[in-house]
Amino acid sequence: MRFENKKLIVVVLDGLRYEAAKRCMGYMEHLVEQGIMFSHKVRSELPSNSRPLYEVLLTGTPACKNGITANNITRLSREKSVFHLASENRMTTAAAAYHWVSELYNKTPFNPSSDRHQHNSDLPIQHGIFYYEDHYPDSHLLADAEYLRTAYDPDFLYIHSMNIDDIGHKYGGSSKEYSASVRNIDTLLAEMMPEWLQKDYWIIVTADHGMNDEGQHGGTTTNERFVPLYINSSMIHETCGDQVLAQLGIAGLMCHCMGVTPSSSMKQHTLVSNLN
Ligand SMILES: [Zn+2]
Repeated sequence: MRFENKKLIVVVLDGLRYEAAKRCMGYMEHLVEQGIMFSHKVRSELPSNSRPLYEVLLTGTPACKNGITANNITRLSREKSVFHLASENRMTTAAAAYHWVSELYNKTPFNPSSDRHQHNSDLPIQHGIFYYEDHYPDSHLLADAEYLRTAYDPDFLYIHSMNIDDIGHKYGGSSKEYSASVRNIDTLLAEMMPEWLQKDYWIIVTADHGMNDEGQHGGTTTNERFVPLYINSSMIHETCGDQVLAQLGIAGLMCHCMGVTPSSSMKQHTLVSNLN
C-alpha cells in the first residue's frame, strides 16, 4: 500500500448531506470519475449537531465520552484533537473556521474584536481566521484559507464552511436554494483544488452532518446522518471498499495522512489497517 506523509487540507462543509454531494458537486465527482479522488459514505455520530460533531471529527471520541453533547456547551475540549497532536509533533496548524472551532480548541468564549484573527504558536490552532455569522460567504472563507495556506504553509489546514447549513435551515434540504449553495462551494473548490492537487497535499472533503427536507438535523434519519468523504488516496478505498465509514475514524485518518501517531481514543476507531 503506497503511503507518504504529506501536508493535509481538511474541508468540512457544514450541513452537507450525502445525497446532495453526489447530485450537485460536479467538480468533486469529476475527480472521482477520473480516479483522482475516492468517494465514500460516512455515517455521522449522534446527535447529528454541529458542535458535537466538530469534536467527533477532530478528536475521534463520541459525545458520551467527550461531553460536547449539545451546541450550547461552550467550553474547551478536554480531549486530544488533531490540532493538539500535530502541534506536539512540531507541525504548523491553521484553521479558517466558524468561531465554535476556536471555542473548542483555542479560547472561549469567542470575542469577535480580539479573536477573529489568532496567531499564537502556543495554541493548538497556531494560525486561525474565525467567522461568527452563519451567512459569512463561503467565497470569503476560502479566501481566508488560501491566505493561511500561502502565508504560513501549514502542515494541517482545517477549512470549515457554513453556508450550506445556513441555507438548509432557511429553505430545507430538498430546496433549490440548498442545491445552489452546494453547487456554489463545489465551484469554489474547482478554483482552488487544482493547485492543492498539483502541490501534492492530502485533501479530505467531508461534512459534520446532513440536513433533512424540513431544514433540520440532530436526529437519526438518512438525510441528517449520511455525509460524503472525498480523499485523494487509495488508502481507504483498498481497506474499506463500499462499506459505510464511521465518523469516529476520521480523526485517526487525518493523523495518518500527516504521519502523526493518533491518540489512544482515535486508535479505537481505525479506517486504515496500518494505523499505528
Ligand atoms: Zn445546522
